Amino acid sequence: MSDAIRDLVATSSQVLAATGHGDLIWGHASVRDPEGRGVWIKSAEWGLEEVTAERVQLVDGEGAVLEGDGKRHSEYPIHTEIMAARPDVGGVVHTHSPSAVALASTGQPLRPVSHAANYFVPPQVPSFTLTADLILTPELGRSLALTLGEARAAFLVNHGLVAVGPTLQEATVAAVLLERACAQQLLTHAAGGWPTWSPPEESLAKREHIYNDAAVSAVWDYLVRRLRAGTSAESSGIGVNIGGSSSGVSAVGP
Ligand SMILES: [Zn+2]
Repeated sequence: MSDAIRDLVATSSQVLAATGHGDLIWGHASVRDPEGRGVWIKSAEWGLEEVTAERVQLVDGEGAVLEGDGKRHSEYPIHTEIMAARPDVGGVVHTHSPSAVALASTGQPLRPVSHAANYFVPPQVPSFTLTADLILTPELGRSLALTLGEARAAFLVNHGLVAVGPTLQEATVAAVLLERACAQQLLTHAAGGWPTWSPPEESLAKREHIYNDAAVSAVWDYLVRRLRAGTSAESSGIGVNIGGSSSGVSAVGP
């Protein structure tokens, strides 16, 4: 079981990197431990795109590493405290994605100017403003969980975002959609004019038509396919280079 969970955390991390959520070595995704021991989350000091199953560890509510190697992320309480407050949540994503940080820092509420924001709005995406510093303590984690409430995502103003879901697959898609929605709104406002957006009843209809459970599942599958395609394209490129080099004969063995 833990192998499958480690693989899922690694795949989610790589998907997040591939969709513009990377911030050097910061940002993390987690899965609730099915045995109630804590959360499975990447170890610190790796970029999201570098996360492999071996770089995932099990961290408990006090920050102890129960399984796995490497340093623990100091912001583990984001994950453990949201999981504690939300029994419906099985996966949590926290990243410093650029458009979410930029939009939240303007003070503008997220508006459904494109499809993506309808996944969240209404209600308004909550904003955590108690601190823009790291969430280093269980107390801060609980405050963030309180701000999140029953929502799918929240902004950590001047810091990043959190997105949650019944599974990490759904939390990951939520994070991807939130960043896209924020980027679209920034683009809209940068263009000037007189922006329009969907009223609440249309947002709810669009949510059902566009982002129903089957569609969200298909989006996850698409993101993973795209990730795999990128990996295999890179591998075949390396192979071509080896074959074309002067030492290519020795590289092409049985
Ligand atoms: Zn952070």
